[in-house]
Amino acid sequence: NVRVRFAPSPTGGLHLGGVRTVLFNYLFAKKNNGTFVLRVEDTDQGRYVEGAEDYIFDCLDWCGLTPDESVRKEGPYAPYRQSERKVIYHDYAEQLLKSGHAYYAFDTPEELEQMREQFKTAENPSPQYDHRTRGLMRNSLTLPEEETKQLLAAGTPYVVRIKMPENETVHFTDMIRGDIAHDTNVVDDKVLIKGDGMPTYHLAVVVDDYLMKITHAFRGEEWLPSAPVHIMLWKNLGWEKDMPKWAHLPLILKPDGNGKLSKRDGDRLGFPVFAMDWTDPRTGEKTTGFREHGFLPEAFVNMLALLGWNPGTEQEIFSLEELGQVFSMERVHKGGAKFDYEKAKWFNQQHIQRADNERLATLAAPFFEKEGIVTDPATLVKVVGLIKERCHLLADFVPQGRFFFEAPQSLDLDSIKGKWSDEKTSFFRTWSAQLDTVEWSHDALEASFSALATETGIKKGELMLPLRIMLVGGKFGPGVFDIIAMIGKEATQQRIATALA
Ligand code: GLU
Repeated sequence: NVRVRFAPSPTGGLHLGGVRTVLFNYLFAKKNNGTFVLRVEDTDQGRYVEGAEDYIFDCLDWCGLTPDESVRKEGPYAPYRQSERKVIYHDYAEQLLKSGHAYYAFDTPEELEQMREQFKTAENPSPQYDHRTRGLMRNSLTLPEEETKQLLAAGTPYVVRIKMPENETVHFTDMIRGDIAHDTNVVDDKVLIKGDGMPTYHLAVVVDDYLMKITHAFRGEEWLPSAPVHIMLWKNLGWEKDMPKWAHLPLILKPDGNGKLSKRDGDRLGFPVFAMDWTDPRTGEKTTGFREHGFLPEAFVNMLALLGWNPGTEQEIFSLEELGQVFSMERVHKGGAKFDYEKAKWFNQQHIQRADNERLATLAAPFFEKEGIVTDPATLVKVVGLIKERCHLLADFVPQGRFFFEAPQSLDLDSIKGKWSDEKTSFFRTWSAQLDTVEWSHDALEASFSALATETGIKKGELMLPLRIMLVGGKFGPGVFDIIAMIGKEATQQRIATALA
């Protein structure tokens, strides 16, 4: 029974990489009839950010990637928030202390600083707490047993550290990268229980993956350096046979391929990197999101799926359900995936074409409202149908469709410069007057226009562009008679009059 998990720390907005990790977990679960667990990893109280947990759930709701088990939908392994599981971790730390795989360390911040100063060399500017240095520090490996007991009994502040073995190689198999080997000599003795009694991420993630019976652990490549610590913990706790299969997902790179796409790149490079708008409650700093830029969730998810994975066919447009049928970890790439905002917009445009007009109208309405344009729902449904072909973002519906609701602010007269004549002026006056009696339908409107053109001997082709400019202000928009049929007689006559004045 496949069980996967997304284990976010509620420290801020969810960026592209985070959502993609969710997505690959979700798709793998779907493909294998498995269970998708969301566990909140909030043991680092110093980094806890108000609102971040709600934000994560809102993002997943928006994307349609709802977990099967979480703090909002408890399953058999509750609680799903690590801060509520605090007592659980202590037993396992205790077990590691007893078996000699972990030890107490009583060093003060000053002593740690001193050690770093003492061991600092040109090639090793920030020495670690490890097999080279631990022997010189104040911990239960160096102190007589009695003294350790006394220090503990006296309530001396301490942390519990893992004892990384010397001269060993930790191997594990990554579903994407194959065999991965780490030299234990370069891994430090990570803290497992902090001074405040809280476990660190390293201990909590292993204990919870075990207790929650996680079968596959997928996470970003940035966690690869932590993997040897986790593997050692799985072994030392005697759980090796239950260890999940690992996959470290490739990084998402900046558009130029130059390094990891960071949270800071959003907005600065002219596109969002967060799923939804996020305001940091500590600084008030606002980062914009794909949702607010006018992405459809299905397009966002489709685009993300292809960042680092391919279906092995030419197909690019997928629904979430289709992705859940074809996804496989074997097709996830080892190398980083360059993010391309133009391509992202193309995915959105493709999904806009496929989306139902009623839904598009509902989603586009707030973008009109933001610009102070009053739309009525029934008209907007028709409007989106006429212009969606030209829209890459929901926001594009506004410039592409505002003329349906208000007269153009300016007319691109340059486009018809030098081609105007008194005959044309009188043509439009006459036709505008004829509109009083024409049946108000696309075909009847066009027929009357063509008939008058023939009668006056002016080529219809020479009249169409001016008419378009009068109605929408420029050389864009759907069929002219579709527009007229939609905006009605009064608006049409008014716009023609304004243009001729
Ligand atoms: N809490 C970690 C994070 O914030 C989870 C990493 C993992 O999946 O092991 O990403």
